[in-house]
Amino acid sequence: MQETTAAPRSAGAATPQDVADQAPDAQARAQAERQVQRSAPHGPDTVPSSSGLRLLAVHAHPDDESSKGAGMMAAYVDAGASVMVATATGGERGDLLNAEAAEIQQCHRDLPGVRRLEMATAAEALGIEHVWLGFTDSGLPEGDPLPPLPFGSFATLDLQTAAAPLVRLVRRFRPHVITAYDESGGYPHPDHIMSHRIAVEAYHAAGDPERYPDCGEPWQPQKLYYDRAFNPGRLKAIHDALLEAGYESPYAERLALWEQGERPDWLTMHEVTTQVPVGDYLEERDAALLAHRTQVEPRGFFFATPNDFLRQVWPYDDFVLVDSKVPVEQPEYDLFAGLR
Ligand SMILES: [Zn+2]
Repeated sequence: MQETTAAPRSAGAATPQDVADQAPDAQARAQAERQVQRSAPHGPDTVPSSSGLRLLAVHAHPDDESSKGAGMMAAYVDAGASVMVATATGGERGDLLNAEAAEIQQCHRDLPGVRRLEMATAAEALGIEHVWLGFTDSGLPEGDPLPPLPFGSFATLDLQTAAAPLVRLVRRFRPHVITAYDESGGYPHPDHIMSHRIAVEAYHAAGDPERYPDCGEPWQPQKLYYDRAFNPGRLKAIHDALLEAGYESPYAERLALWEQGERPDWLTMHEVTTQVPVGDYLEERDAALLAHRTQVEPRGFFFATPNDFLRQVWPYDDFVLVDSKVPVEQPEYDLFAGLR
């Protein structure tokens, strides 16, 4: 990793005592310590050496790669793998979500240009390669009834047209593993759902010489995963541990709704099969997120849980394995398991 973005790893993970010491009183402190012990992770601390292996992560907009699976990618880069992010659209229809960035004229004058620079900075922070698939952001339609998607935007395209650049990339980069969103898109943005569709299409078609014959020599990826960054088990574990240690939880409202059975109808419940240890890479993830300054509020949601706390409670990026061409054992702690 780059020296400028490397994590202060010498600081190490917080001990249960460190976390407990921040609690408001003795009783809460004892509770916090019990909670941290109870939920202490039991997987390996790092991913195995991965040189010669390649991973392709398919995303919809610049910034999605930094909020979903960024620690995983930094971990595999450090372990010697080649990691590529394909971003389907330029994020042209994104809003300015950070008040500080909204004061900068260039962000209004040329948001797509600013987002390209942000993406380059994020890629450098994670040590990844990056390509744009070249499609136009569909925007998140709002209103009742919903307005039609903009003409020619990514989510309006037929699957073959939308998947062709990704098939071409898979055949050029030759990834062993592809990560993608699940069928809900992770959240129901039309570009996220389309990103899911093209990732699945490319995974199944890239190895078939009959399909997409103009897109290069066939290559069959070996494993396909869906991202589970915001799975209920993770949110609940972090939420409970935060409350017991005397912090506020950013997940309270969401979990309360879920527990009352009020899950949004798009919410999928794939069970996590694979937990990649990322405890040493949370600072790289933060650097990548902060690089997307038009999209990420520096004191917002993504930074609400201290990294030392995450290292104690849930130092993983979570995935579900949906297809494998090689025998696997579950649970897994490595996306390349079975491929070395
Ligand atoms: Zn997105």
